[in-house]
Amino acid sequence: MDLSVSVLPKAIKHGAIVLDNHRAVKINFIKNKAQSVDIINQATGQRHTIKCKYLIVAAGPIATPHLLLASGIESVSSATQHIGHNLMRHINGVVSGVVPYIANPDNTLAKRVAIADYYFGDSSSKSSPKGNWGIIQDIATPGKGVIKANAPFGLKNIAATFSQFLINQLVIAEDIPQYYNRVYCADTKDSFGMPNVAIYHRYHARDIAVRDALYNVAKRILKQAGAKIFYYMPIVTFSHALGTCRMGNNRNLSTVNPDCRLWDITNCYITDASVLPTGGSVNPSLTIAANALRVANIMLKR
Ligand SMILES: Cc1cc2nc3c(=O)[nH]c(=O)nc-3n(C[C@H](O)[C@H](O)[C@H](O)COP(=O)(O)OP(=O)(O)OC[C@H]3O[C@@H](n4cnc5c(N)ncnc54)[C@H](O)[C@@H]3O)c2cc1C
Repeated sequence: MDLSVSVLPKAIKHGAIVLDNHRAVKINFIKNKAQSVDIINQATGQRHTIKCKYLIVAAGPIATPHLLLASGIESVSSATQHIGHNLMRHINGVVSGVVPYIANPDNTLAKRVAIADYYFGDSSSKSSPKGNWGIIQDIATPGKGVIKANAPFGLKNIAATFSQFLINQLVIAEDIPQYYNRVYCADTKDSFGMPNVAIYHRYHARDIAVRDALYNVAKRILKQAGAKIFYYMPIVTFSHALGTCRMGNNRNLSTVNPDCRLWDITNCYITDASVLPTGGSVNPSLTIAANALRVANIMLKR
C-alpha cells in the first residue's frame, strides 16, 4: 500500500504531474496569497517557478516548517509564532525478552497484536504517571545481520545466535507538545542556497516516565510468555515526527485553522503530520491520511 502503488497512478490518470528528484526551495507569498513555488532539480541544479491557484504543503513536520520559514512567511502572516514549534516524536522503545523456545518458528504473524489497555494510563496505580500513556505492540525480531551490527562489541555473535529466542514488544508512548522543541533555520546555507534546517528537541520528564511505565507492562507480558532475560532499546529516531504547524481555533495558538489553511493566507493548506496539535500514541500514518482526505473535501467544496 505504498503511495507509489496506491495513490500516484490514480492521481496521474486524473492529470497530476509528478516531478521526481525536485525540491521546493521557496514559496513566494505576495500579500495574503501563495503565488508560486520555486523548485530545483536536484540532479541538474535547474530552477523553475510554478504558479499556483491553491498550494498544499505536505513535506512532513521537519521540512514543512523549514520551507515556510525559509520562504519568509513571517513577513506575510502575523500568526507565525508557532511555526516550527511543539515538535513531537512520540517516545518509543522496544523491550525484548529471551524465551526458552524458538519464538516464531515460521517467521510469520509479526506486528499483529497490539495492547491498548494502557492507552489512557493506569488509574489503579497511585505512583504511575497521570494521563495518557500509549500502546504496546508485537514487533518482529530484526534479521541476524541487523542484530549483529547493533549488539555491543564481544556479544555480536551470541546476540545473533539468540535472536530466534527473542520476543519483542514495541512501546509507543505519547509525548507532551512543548513550545521550545522546534524546527528552525540555521545561519548556514546548503548547496542550493536554502538555509540549513536545525532542530532542538528534549523530552519532558513525564515523557520518559510514561515510556518506562509501558516498559514495565511489556516486561510483565514477556515474563508471562516465559522470558527470563530482558533488553531495552530506546528508539532515538524522528520516525514519528509530529506537530510544528499545529491546527487550532485560536490564531494566537496555532499555525493553521481547523481547515488546515495557514492563518492570513487564503490559498495555502498543510496536510501532513505537522498539523497535529497532540501526538496520540499510535502509528500516525492513517490519522495523517484521514486528515488529508478531510482537507481535500473542504477544498473541493470551496
Ligand atoms: C522507518 C520508519 C518506519 C515507520 N513505520 C510506521 C508504521 O509502521 N506505521 C505508521 O503509521 N507510521 C510509520 N512511520 C511514520 C510515518 O512514515 C510518518 O508519520 C508519515 O509518513 C508522515 O507523513 P507526512 O505526510 O507528514 O510526511 P512524509 O511521509 O515524510 O512525506 C513528506 C514528503 O515530502 C517530501 N519533501 C520533503 N521536503 C521537500 C521539499 N522541500 N520539496 C519537495 N518534497 C519534499 C519528502 O521527500 C516526502 O516524500 C514510520 C516512519 C519511519 C521513518
